[in-house]
Amino acid sequence: MDIHEYQAKELLKRFGVNVPRGGIAYSPEQAVYRCSELSGEKWVVKAQIHSGARGKAGGVRICSTEQEVEESAQWMLGRKLVTHQTGPQGKLVNRLYIEEATNIVQEIYLAFVMDRTEERVVVVASAQGGMEIEEISEKEPESIIRSVVDPAVGMQSFQAREIAFSLGLDPALIPQAVKTIMGCYNLMNQMDANMVEINPLVVTGGGEIVALDGKLSFDDNALFRHPDVSELRDKSQEDPRETYAGDRGLSYIGLDGKIGCIVNGAGLAMATLDMIKMAGGEPANFLDVGGGASPERVLMSFKAVLNDRNVEAILVNIFAGINRCDWIAEGVIRAVKELDLKMPLVVRLSGTNVEEGMTLLKDSGLNIETASSLAEAADKVVKSWKSKSIEEAV
Ligand code: GDP
Ligand code: MN
Repeated sequence: MDIHEYQAKELLKRFGVNVPRGGIAYSPEQAVYRCSELSGEKWVVKAQIHSGARGKAGGVRICSTEQEVEESAQWMLGRKLVTHQTGPQGKLVNRLYIEEATNIVQEIYLAFVMDRTEERVVVVASAQGGMEIEEISEKEPESIIRSVVDPAVGMQSFQAREIAFSLGLDPALIPQAVKTIMGCYNLMNQMDANMVEINPLVVTGGGEIVALDGKLSFDDNALFRHPDVSELRDKSQEDPRETYAGDRGLSYIGLDGKIGCIVNGAGLAMATLDMIKMAGGEPANFLDVGGGASPERVLMSFKAVLNDRNVEAILVNIFAGINRCDWIAEGVIRAVKELDLKMPLVVRLSGTNVEEGMTLLKDSGLNIETASSLAEAADKVVKSWKSKSIEEAV
């Protein structure tokens, strides 16, 4: 789960990381009020959306007058901001963060991520942070500092000092940098975050180290341990298809293709996506119905898949161990009837009660194609989808 920048900054502050003073605003009037509260001469108006790269999309504006603040707020609020991370549909701005402006001397990149190859937390840092970090990591990969944290002992201050020195920081700044690095690591560790990214972490004209931006992402499976973090969830920032499925207890991830998938088991679901691609199609989603899926759960899965208006064909792929093929078949038949399904549908069943399941499908008299292997199912669904699209085009 992701949270907003202002929420991330509140948490960072709790762990001893310096952040600028600021306040949240839901309207241009509130934005202006925040300026008078903060006093000072310059303010930064920041669109709060679950995406980075807002700066390049007009979502971060430095303002020198209250009028500029008001105009920026007016422009941002209610807008769907499109960044290179949001996809073309963009993300809705419904709140702003107003901060005192910071005088920047240097922009640093500092991130803590879970490295799957290392199976450890890795610190990634660069002395050239800011909005061009992607280009720098591509053009000068050797300039990126990487430091692996040993989970047995956690981040040690000597290691944090080493990172700070590698960044070429002025010796006077090292203690602050160490405090920042330790704070981020402690946050990640204690709050079950799987990413902490500060870009930029800046050195100010006054010789301070301040987190000017903050991106935190949390492990969904550990959220039950952090009810205060769970409360920060903002559904307006999520893929509506995923919210719909997630609220119904389905494990679903939205993709960009046209072929909807209903599968049991995460591994089989991944393999199904690959097979659809190999057959020349594009999957519309990942969906794991789980073990022991009742007909009701299968029906619900169909609803979740069809909630995506781009879906033009459906593949059901079940390997029944704990599941029962006859239950799945029952669910499929109910879904086709209740939802008046007209698009191509291919069902592959295997395992417990497969004969009963196949018989139910055949006897239903409904237009359901069946397959006995995954490869056959993927081929069939892509073929039927293609011929249906050609039919419609003619
Ligand atoms: P992002 O584009 O979504 O990552 O948003 P950031 O919060 O990182 O802001 C983008 C850029 O705006 C930063 O890299 C800074 O260069 C600039 N910026 C943000 N806040 C300030 C500020 O207080 N003062 C100055 N001078 N620049 C700022
Ligand atoms: Mn940033």
